[in-house]
Amino acid sequence: MLTGVQVVLAGGDARQLEVIRRLTEMDASVTIVGFDRLDTPFSGVVRGEWTPETLRQADALVLPPVGTEDDGSIAAIFTEQEMKLTDDYLAALPKTSKIYCGMAKTYLREMADKHHLGLVELFERDDVAIYNSIPTAEGAVMMAIQNTDITIHGSNCMVLGLGRTGLTLARTLQGLGASVKAGVRREESFARAYEMGFEPFYMPDLARQTGNIDLLFNTIPNMIVTAQVIAGLPLRAVIIDLASKPGGTDFRFAEKRGIKALLAPGLPGIVAPKTAGRIIANGLIQMILEDNRQRGNAT
Ligand code: NAP
Repeated sequence: MLTGVQVVLAGGDARQLEVIRRLTEMDASVTIVGFDRLDTPFSGVVRGEWTPETLRQADALVLPPVGTEDDGSIAAIFTEQEMKLTDDYLAALPKTSKIYCGMAKTYLREMADKHHLGLVELFERDDVAIYNSIPTAEGAVMMAIQNTDITIHGSNCMVLGLGRTGLTLARTLQGLGASVKAGVRREESFARAYEMGFEPFYMPDLARQTGNIDLLFNTIPNMIVTAQVIAGLPLRAVIIDLASKPGGTDFRFAEKRGIKALLAPGLPGIVAPKTAGRIIANGLIQMILEDNRQRGNAT
């Protein structure tokens, strides 16, 4: 249980509602900030103001899945108020407290470092990233259906990167009856792709593999789908880029060539906020429990 643990949860979207619910179930003392437009009553939860004072007793500061933007602003859809994580706020946090988010941008990493505060990025945990790949793959399928006039069944799909997201997506597309080509860089990944019935190829071959592709999904967070690659795609192809912003596609060239290319961030929060919130909450609670045990004050 999290009895006696002071959590301040600042900003976020519908996913955080599930996180708040689970934290209170675990008996944490929860203060929420940035939810003034939300009427849902949360029993046992304190509604706070976004001031440094609110953070003075916090053991954990929980930020939205993307932490903060690079100017320090915290995304918060349930308030009109602008919330920024600046030096005053971090200086107010006790040095033993930690900041939790899904993934952190450079600003947040540098600020946490500067103030000697622990920063936990939940999506770095393999289990969290793998669970999260399930709503991500479903969201990618939704986008594919919305943006094509063919079925996924019988289509020629390509998935670039067979990591936690790519593997789940490739298997999901295959399950729907697509032929799946998988772009990899390691021999183990090539062998795994072959074993799973995909058509593997090594990334340096990418430009030679695109001739008959209907749907190209990228999960590699580097510029991979270059102008040269796009030039080889049929005009009917649709590119769905799942990699974190700015994605790995030359969107400018895709538009020039008349190929539909979509950057698709935050799919779990769009297609399944409740499931996505539950995934975040489970990882978060485990991490807070572990951190608290190390501080020697878990119950
Ligand atoms: P991951 O497990 O690290 O997978 C990334 C894959 O990319 C790995 O297989 C890696 O290959 C491959 N890769 C990286 N650089 C490469 C390169 N230069 N050439 C060839 N392959 C390369 O990460 P993940 O959890 O699947 O996440 C992938 C991306 O999706 C991230 O940017 C993440 O933020 C994003 N994401 C987006 C959503 C959404 O809603 N759109 C949801 C979840 C995650 P190796 O295996 O050889 O290292």
